[in-house]
Amino acid sequence: MKITSKIEEVRAVRWVDAALSWGFAPTMGYLHEGHLALVRLAKTENDRAAVSIYVNPAQFGPQEDLASYPRSLERDLALLREAGVDLVFTPDDGVMYPAGFQTKVWVEGVSRPLEGSARPGHFDGVATVVAKLFNIVQPTRAYFGQKDAQQTVVLRRMALDLNFPVEMVICPTAREPDGLAMSSRNSYLTPDQRAAATVLYRALSAAQAAFAAGERRGDALRAVMRDTVAAEPLARLDYVSAANPLTLAEWDRVEGDCLLSLAVFLDRVRLIDNILIKDAS
Ligand code: AMP
Repeated sequence: MKITSKIEEVRAVRWVDAALSWGFAPTMGYLHEGHLALVRLAKTENDRAAVSIYVNPAQFGPQEDLASYPRSLERDLALLREAGVDLVFTPDDGVMYPAGFQTKVWVEGVSRPLEGSARPGHFDGVATVVAKLFNIVQPTRAYFGQKDAQQTVVLRRMALDLNFPVEMVICPTAREPDGLAMSSRNSYLTPDQRAAATVLYRALSAAQAAFAAGERRGDALRAVMRDTVAAEPLARLDYVSAANPLTLAEWDRVEGDCLLSLAVFLDRVRLIDNILIKDAS
């Protein structure tokens, strides 16, 4: 497994044999089973697999957790070696944003609502760093988690609009046995908060059950999630959404697929989760 922070070395390994397909999973490290599922699929579907580990400052707001974001490089590298990864790119800020850097990728429409409105500038940072990583690694396929549903919509749009010759693959959300979506940020939770954090999946499941029982009014589905979160004393709701998964426009009445999503604070820890309901008709 080649580990490097240098762009030239990534390119050299990537292009040893142009006939080989490469799967690529960008991450911010502190790896868990959700990341590893992406990596294993990348390895299965391609001749070679690459992973980046980079906590990208451009996607954090000034009041967010950049400084405290958990890191565990040695452990991450051991897990990636075990998963059969061929190349790990671990750039630093000087490599990604050298002096004089001035360019931003901004995906206009689908970056606006939900996470985009709660975290101004977040998706500019994500789109910019992923565009750079695509140009550095030049993967055949790129692997992203459904956990970050809006991110997948934004990045698909970017890849399409900017003609990146990369096949986008979205992997299901990996969950703890009690339903909590795996996230590096779960490590911030106290035991009480960890217990309360199941409220995200409980809220989504309750709205999914209402949908299964025939509820199609967007407001009613959002109210089910809002009420579930309101009943959890340690949780504070940021937003709930029942939206068209392609446009992210809120459904008035659901016609087609429905992306249920929400963001919740447990004290200062902010967690997100979602469930995609496929239209059965
Ligand atoms: P991050 O390190 O949080 O930037 O995540 C790197 C990639 O892993 C992104 O494509 C995430 O959507 C994905 N990911 C994170 N958590 C999960 C999860 N619980 N299940 C599936 N994919 C995940």
